[in-house]
Amino acid sequence: MSNIIKPKSTIGIIGGGQLGRMMAFSAKERGYNVGVLDPTPNCPTAQVADWHIEAAYDDAEALAELAERSDVLTYEFENVDAETIERVLNQVSVPQGTELLLITQNRLKEKEFLKNAGIPVATYAKIETEEALAESVKEIGYPSVLKTIRGGYDGKGQVVLKSAADVSKAAELLENGICILEQWVAFEKEVSIMVTRNERGQISTFPVSENIHEQNILLKSIVPARVSQKVTEEAKKIAEQIADQMNLVGVLGIELFVTAQGEIYANELAPRPHNSGHYSIEACSDSQFDMHIRAICGYNLPQVDLLRPAVMVNILGEHLEQALELNETKPVWHVHDYGKAVAKVGRKMGHITILTDDLERTLKEIDQTAIWQS
Ligand code: AMP
Repeated sequence: MSNIIKPKSTIGIIGGGQLGRMMAFSAKERGYNVGVLDPTPNCPTAQVADWHIEAAYDDAEALAELAERSDVLTYEFENVDAETIERVLNQVSVPQGTELLLITQNRLKEKEFLKNAGIPVATYAKIETEEALAESVKEIGYPSVLKTIRGGYDGKGQVVLKSAADVSKAAELLENGICILEQWVAFEKEVSIMVTRNERGQISTFPVSENIHEQNILLKSIVPARVSQKVTEEAKKIAEQIADQMNLVGVLGIELFVTAQGEIYANELAPRPHNSGHYSIEACSDSQFDMHIRAICGYNLPQVDLLRPAVMVNILGEHLEQALELNETKPVWHVHDYGKAVAKVGRKMGHITILTDDLERTLKEIDQTAIWQS
């Protein structure tokens, strides 16, 4: 029973976006104090937290203050500088650790980790020069995708290569640093699975979610994913294996490609709760945020049950005004608003979770609102 961070202790969150906000809701529900480090005044997490240090994530003094005032630290996104965090490890416990960050903020390390763990990934090569790109693409073939190894998200920092004519244009991406060339996976579905592990090695997985993207931004998640029982079981096995080999503490999101033949390839890891797991707030016995708080505070982990199938749909800046009206017209839909001051096109402003016993009918109902039409 050692190492338990009990209610009334303080959880410090690095990053004040919607993930931090939903972690803070779970933490407050359980009686914790919450502090947040984020440069934006009145950011989504600060609206829920007890206190806010308004400073950059890599501001060493501010991070030292967060550490000083907290009993445990967590991060809500992967682009935190691991070295900055390492400097406060003598002050406060950071159960997620920095190894997880180092792996997930670097696509090359992430792929190497997955490959070494025996998890199938698309064939890839490290690319540093245009010549190397021209050489590797001969082996990997077309289509393929060149990605920067650092800092990319939601499809940013990526170029698809369809033929040799695309090589020199794609090579411009190398100006941003080392890249990785990946074989294009002809997937039928993109799915994800969230997994939680604590320091005692207990592991608990969430149901598999089927994800629909538009312009590389998650639009909808459908749970349970419409895949075979075999794929569901395999995804769970992969999640448990990754959590175990990483000595994960907290929640990790795993994005997977599934082919028509039922083959699974791991695409990306997120060392934190993930957008495609938001459905768990209403649809599961414990949400991904509840499980994250339990894990970083050192508590036993329950098995997570799906209480009802669900569809989650994201509210981007361009959807916000109309989506908020659904509070009135669709009273059984759970409309979340992250409290962001400025709505921009493509910016995640909130999400809606709809519990349903008829996924197809619910998907149709979403279409009929005409809010998410491209
Ligand atoms: P990522 O930032 O790696 O998650 O990529 C963004 C999106 O691009 C993914 O959700 C896929 O839809 C697509 N994508 C990325 N890499 C591949 C790949 N190797 N094969 C097929 N689609 C990909």
